[in-house]
Amino acid sequence: MPIKVLTRDLAAKIAAGEVVERPASVVKELVENSIDAGASQITVEINSGGVEQIKVVDDGHGIPAEEVAIAFERHATSKIDSQEQLYAIATLGFRGEALPSIAAVSRTILTSRQPLNTGGFRIELHWGEPVSSGSQGGSPGTTVEVSDLFGNLPARRKFLRSSSAETSRIQELVSRYALVFPGIRFQLAVDGRVSFTSPGNGHPREALLAVYGPQAATAMLEVHGEDQESGYQVDGFTGAPSLTRANRTYMTFFINRRWVQSRMLSFAVEEAYMGLLQVKRYPLSSLNISIPYEHVDVNAHPSKREVRFQDESRVFSTVQRAVRAVLVADSPVPSLSPPPGSDYPAAVASSFFPRSAFGGVRNGGGRDSVEMLERTGGSLSGPVGLDPGMPASRQPAPPLKVVGQLKLTYIVAEGSEGMFLVDQHAAHERVLFDRICQKMSEQEPQAQTLLEPVPVELSPAQGDTLRVNREALENYGFQFEPFGDGSYLLRAVPAIFGDSGPAKSLLDVLDTTAFEGLVRRKEDVVAASISCHGAIRAGKQLTEPEMAALLEQLEATPNPHTCPHGRPTMVHFSSNHMEREFGRR
Ligand code: ADP
Ligand code: MG
Repeated sequence: MPIKVLTRDLAAKIAAGEVVERPASVVKELVENSIDAGASQITVEINSGGVEQIKVVDDGHGIPAEEVAIAFERHATSKIDSQEQLYAIATLGFRGEALPSIAAVSRTILTSRQPLNTGGFRIELHWGEPVSSGSQGGSPGTTVEVSDLFGNLPARRKFLRSSSAETSRIQELVSRYALVFPGIRFQLAVDGRVSFTSPGNGHPREALLAVYGPQAATAMLEVHGEDQESGYQVDGFTGAPSLTRANRTYMTFFINRRWVQSRMLSFAVEEAYMGLLQVKRYPLSSLNISIPYEHVDVNAHPSKREVRFQDESRVFSTVQRAVRAVLVADSPVPSLSPPPGSDYPAAVASSFFPRSAFGGVRNGGGRDSVEMLERTGGSLSGPVGLDPGMPASRQPAPPLKVVGQLKLTYIVAEGSEGMFLVDQHAAHERVLFDRICQKMSEQEPQAQTLLEPVPVELSPAQGDTLRVNREALENYGFQFEPFGDGSYLLRAVPAIFGDSGPAKSLLDVLDTTAFEGLVRRKEDVVAASISCHGAIRAGKQLTEPEMAALLEQLEATPNPHTCPHGRPTMVHFSSNHMEREFGRR
């Protein structure tokens, strides 16, 4: 075929395809326009999953009558007018593509009235072409009605899911915006019935209640964290570890109140929950990260759902620490008050999550924090290192006797110097990590050859991680070879993974390695990733012999006091302390 310029109609359809993937994308763009217009109330009505009709009504500042038609031109926007502004975008929209794209694939009617004008204006377009326009009365604000979506693109329609599936995407979307814009009253009506309303009174917790219902909402902890150096802030809610879901869709992230999708951010949150959740369970989280506009490039994706960060690792660590701080503060540890006159340095136990770096971490649960805990081993002033290879303290673990298991997460143990609570996941992680490192130094990685090689498909990012860390992965027992098209054939896995899902082990290790590699310095992230995914989880019931064996292994390990991520494996309640608490001394 000779090269020729596409017809305007075809070009418009192609461009529209990037912005308008499905009914929920239309709702997203229209709602964002209403938010940008300063609306305090946004009503969304949908019929038949949004395919038959989507109507979004706002009470925002409206569009001047003479500009209504221009709004439907491609790249027409009132939000930026210079290249400089492109790097500091404060509005949700800026590409000027939504209205023309939506109009190109539907029948669209827009009416708008500016609050100070007595009358408004109406325009109707069919498949991108204006069919009528003129003055029209109505209340202040803007209404957009989109009917017969993809009526001119039957192929695209076929890709849509059932109307109930499309409806639930829209419900999810509206409720997410309600969470991060608690000052706006959102209402969603599905096939004529109101399905969701948020109060719009500015109180985040009330928005949360409207979205999650009373039960989940009360188990959500408030997150407020700040990285003082950069000023990056994290605000929102995250679920107590008891509140989990089977997939990641309940983790919602906003950057400067723009809803974004980001594996990196999910990882930051999952990392914060490390050791607190069972395998394949994910937290509920809704977090807004505020960073200077010029530190984020929002112009990375036609529908603006992916963004690029100037300092990705800082965003990661700010989120991870803010969430971890809240979880630690809420952790189910008895609240011991510090003994009078003792020299508890406030930041000791929490030195991994320095409070100083998180001005005003608030504790949703209102319980006492780990600052009250004494770390074991007498190394109260020793910093808890981030490097797994670097011993936080070379003191051996004391010989411990199992008393029982608590919350399916901690081993309660007795030592000569009082009571110890051992985090089963962190302890096992440490044991595995040290074992892997030792085998490495003995040059004999423990690999388990698979009976039949398993093909594994990698995302481009996972492929990159694999290539960069190939040698380390092989040294630790993974064996694989390229299998074409981003796939690899997996032949062996580190022995600690046993027979449990070899492909998944590799993917997990790659994902963890990729993001740990961003935030950590020189240590061997591959070994840490392997031990983390091989270790027993919180929530697993352990028999007494299993617990005893774990404590014994921990005793024998060179760096027993922290897990490879630098978190404590155990906390200590000294006999002295207990005696003082009970008034015996
Ligand atoms: P963008 O949001 O990227 O600027 P759109 O195609 O979504 O592009 O909208 C084009 C322009 O139309 C906006 O810049 C804005 O000026 C105007 N507009 C669209 N929707 C509304 C609305 N609900 N209220 C007021 N103005 C609107
Ligand atoms: Mg827009």
